[in-house]
Amino acid sequence: MAEAAVMEYEALYRMGVEKLKAAQITEAELDARLLLEAVCGTTRNDLLVHGNKPVTEQQYKCYVNFIEKRRCHIPLQHILGYQEFMGLTFQVSKDVLIPRQDTETLVEEVLRNLHDGMRILDMCTGSGCILLSLLKYSNDCVGVGCDLSEKALGIAQENARQLGIEAEFIQSNLFEKVSGKFEMIVSNPPYIPSNVIPTLMAEVREYDPLMALDGGEDGLLFYREIIRDAGTYLYPGGMLFFEIGCEQAADVSRYMEEAGYKEVAVCKDLSGLDRVVSGIYGG
Ligand code: GLN
Repeated sequence: MAEAAVMEYEALYRMGVEKLKAAQITEAELDARLLLEAVCGTTRNDLLVHGNKPVTEQQYKCYVNFIEKRRCHIPLQHILGYQEFMGLTFQVSKDVLIPRQDTETLVEEVLRNLHDGMRILDMCTGSGCILLSLLKYSNDCVGVGCDLSEKALGIAQENARQLGIEAEFIQSNLFEKVSGKFEMIVSNPPYIPSNVIPTLMAEVREYDPLMALDGGEDGLLFYREIIRDAGTYLYPGGMLFFEIGCEQAADVSRYMEEAGYKEVAVCKDLSGLDRVVSGIYGG
C-alpha cells in the first residue's frame, strides 16, 4: 500500500501560521509559507491554487521540525541554510551575518560607479555577498575579500564556488594582510553600538555573530579605523563606500571629509533611511 498522505497543503500551512503566531513570531504568515515552499519545492502559487494537494509524510515531518525551530526564534535563513541577495543564493551559517536587503543599496551604489577591470576590496566580507554580487554584475573586475573570521571566509569561499565566481579571500585584521592598490574599497562593517546589542531582536542578537554586529562603544569604531588606513590602498581617484546605520551619516561623512575624501555623498535605502556613504580619495 502506498504511504498515506497525512495532511493537505493549505491545512499544513495554517497549522504553521498558528504555531508561529502563538510563539510571537512577527512575520508568521510569510515565514510559514516560505518554510513550506522550501520543504515541498513549491511556489507562492501552490497555496493559491493547489491548497488541497496532499503532502507526504516526509514533507509533513520536515515542516513540523522547521516550524519548531522557527518557534525558538532561529532565523529562517539558518533553518534553510541560505538567503537570496541581489538575485543570487548565498549559503549562510552562524559564522556570517545574514545578508540584508538594505545592503543591496550599497551594492547598487557601487555598481553605478564600477567599471570593467577595476580592483575591488571588500573589507569585513562575511558571507562574501557584497563582493561576489559586484563581481557577478561586472566584467573582468578583480575582487579581494577580507575578514578576521576564518569560518566566515570558509562560507565566502563556498559561495564563490557555488556561484562560479573567482575571488581572493584573505584572513586579515582589517588591512593588516592586505597588499596592492584598489579602485574601490567597499565595506559593511559591524556598526551597532555595543550597549544596543542586548536590545536587538532575538533572531539577530542570538544568531548573527557578535563580531559582525559590534561596532564598539559608539558603533563607529570600524569606520574610523578603515578611513584611517584606506587611503594607503586606494589609487588617487579611487572610491570608498560604506554601509552605515541610519543615524551615522553625519559622523561617517565628517570622518571621510577630514581624511581628504572629495564628493562625500549619502544615499538612502528603499525605506528612505540613510544607508550608504561614499567619497573619492584625493591621494
Ligand atoms: N559584509 C558582510 C555583509 O554585508 C558582513 C558584514 C558584517 O559582518 N558586519 O553581509
